[in-house]
Amino acid sequence: MAGLLPARPCCQLSELLGVYFGSRGRLLGSPLGRSAYFSLLRNAVARKVVRLGRAVGRMEAKYQAVKTRKRMSFFIELALPADLVATFSQPPVQVVPDAACDRKALLRGLFLGCGSVNAPNTRYHLEFVAPTPSWASAIARLIESAGVKAGIAVRGGQSVVYVKDGDGIVRLLSMMGANRAVMEFENVRVLREVSGEVNRRLNFETANIGKTIGSGMRQAAAIEQLEADGKLDRLPPALREMARWRSKHPELNLGELAGHMKLSKSAVNHRLRRLQQLAKPVAPKQERRSA
Ligand SMILES: [Zn+2]
Repeated sequence: MAGLLPARPCCQLSELLGVYFGSRGRLLGSPLGRSAYFSLLRNAVARKVVRLGRAVGRMEAKYQAVKTRKRMSFFIELALPADLVATFSQPPVQVVPDAACDRKALLRGLFLGCGSVNAPNTRYHLEFVAPTPSWASAIARLIESAGVKAGIAVRGGQSVVYVKDGDGIVRLLSMMGANRAVMEFENVRVLREVSGEVNRRLNFETANIGKTIGSGMRQAAAIEQLEADGKLDRLPPALREMARWRSKHPELNLGELAGHMKLSKSAVNHRLRRLQQLAKPVAPKQERRSA
């Protein structure tokens, strides 16, 4: 979910706003202009913010990774074009868009900014730790407009929007494009129904998932570039098939991809490297600017 960018500029902006408000982003001022400041826990999300900023308004990004005793933090500062400053200082009621595509993108961004899902022993649980009470109501309304029941609770002084019903969680995750999470979650549900002894936790902050998504995302971006340059169709079938799999599943690791494609890990690795090399010469940055 942290991997691919939405295709349309309206959705890109909505997703960026979702991450910004969800992660309690702040507006900074300097003599050179205003910038949006993000403090994030996952590198994959941080990189997505940088890519979204470029796509939305060619925003320059400062990126900093800081290791604290317990975990990594990622700080991003996006230089805002003057016409976007007002958009980043709106109250939630005004941020929530009308178009279905943008409501979905906003919710995905909010989830990347403050959401998590897990399947602990006793019950299924998806939640957003909302930045403010008014954001909590806005998030609950977005969820309910997707036909899923949401509740709001106050925990440690913070408003938490939660969804408990398993079908609702699956519907929300697939709506937000969290393929891997949906698969694993459904897996957990099936296992639990069969054996009742599953205790698997799916946390979006899991370092391994972040790492896999990181390299998968770079590969998917390279493939996006090949496609944008019209090169993809001219590649040999084996590479085209590889590209199809990777862009559909940026979240899978090498072994999982190899399993799905019935290939060896080294063959998959070789093809992915080849795709990245092919994307490079004309596109040193590997990122498409569509703004
Ligand atoms: Zn849109």
